Amino acid sequence: MIDFKALAQEYGTPLYVYDFDYMTKQYEELKEAFRGRKSIVAYAVKANSNLSVVKHFAKMGSGADCVSIGEVRRAFLAGIPAYKIIFSGVGKSDAEIREAIERDILYINVESEAELGRVELIAKALDTKARISIRVNPNIDPKTHPYISTGLHDNKFGVDLSTAKRMYIKANNSENLDPVGIHFHIGSQLTELEPIREAAVIVADLVRSLEAIDIELKFFDVGGGLGIKYNDETTIKPYDYAQAILSTLTALDMTIICEPGRFLTANAGYFVTKVLYEKQNGEKKFVVVDGAMNDLLRPSLYNAYHEIEALTQSEGEPREVDIVGPVCESGDFFAKDYKLPPLNHNDLLVIKSAGAYGFGMGSNYNTRGRSAEVAVENGKARLIRRRESFDDLIALEREFLED
Ligand SMILES: *Cc1c(COP(=O)(O)O)cnc(C)c1O
Repeated sequence: MIDFKALAQEYGTPLYVYDFDYMTKQYEELKEAFRGRKSIVAYAVKANSNLSVVKHFAKMGSGADCVSIGEVRRAFLAGIPAYKIIFSGVGKSDAEIREAIERDILYINVESEAELGRVELIAKALDTKARISIRVNPNIDPKTHPYISTGLHDNKFGVDLSTAKRMYIKANNSENLDPVGIHFHIGSQLTELEPIREAAVIVADLVRSLEAIDIELKFFDVGGGLGIKYNDETTIKPYDYAQAILSTLTALDMTIICEPGRFLTANAGYFVTKVLYEKQNGEKKFVVVDGAMNDLLRPSLYNAYHEIEALTQSEGEPREVDIVGPVCESGDFFAKDYKLPPLNHNDLLVIKSAGAYGFGMGSNYNTRGRSAEVAVENGKARLIRRRESFDDLIALEREFLED
């Protein structure tokens, strides 16, 4: 049990707390599911990009899936070896592509024909061969929230099958491209296995048709997307996930790469916020807390559900309240019509499942400094990012002030 009161006392609120032991458990369970096969778990850095978190995964042998050169640099700083780093994303700049090639990462995950052309040109200018994979869009409905669905032709991600094939042929004939992998990622917070299996079948068929024309790929990258339990979802078991993927790869000797983000960190994270006031507008009851949408955006952005626990001495009957922050937006809420007991000034609320897409989606909106982040491991807590001060917030503007 994590002593949130003690942590709030020591580090202040609002505060992110991460249970590193839970992250270890999740990583090991997934790794174990692929036992006996060549596999790399490449942690999706965007889920929680704190250097100490990435380093925690690096120490367990994890790779990294990065979606900007900034994330690639984080992965290097955290100690992930170049040969386990993947660079994905629909819009890579020339400078990002160049740096990725120079750093000799495992591969650049190419998302369009135009991008393949840029990678080739840049590799040529560097007089080298760039390792690439191609992100295939298998046009599968992942049955998740539309904002986090990525594997349909309506989405901006990847290329269709026939384009992918053309691109592999082009890459294979190029002096400056080395096609080594194939990739798909159909969405996030997936709770059904069937869409993943269907996508894997389609992509494995493409791999076979490429083998038939002597294009041999080494890496079968199934993306991330494993869902977690926020509320009452049933989730996919890592073992079943691995089996479903492996079953599509008969006669293919490839290294399987998966890129989980949320699965590894979401339920390791807690966002701790303090009650400022209760108020009532007509029939509507509000609990106003010191954390806000600039700290944890998911409820505002996706109407996402997070379980919330009140740490309070109060023994009154629970009632339905909206839990809102101080930011000047009606969309600034953590929950609506949520049952909580009457709360007192300074009581704590612990918002759960906040370890993925929490801190990282934060901002300084309303000139609010970002929360501190604390890691708990083996019963010990340590600060892994200090709270932002007002000086931090204005540092990049101050020098432009005129008298
Ligand atoms: C976001 C992303 C992931 C991780 O997604 P989760 O749902 O957090 O597992 C993996 N791969 C790619 C390419 C991504 O964009």
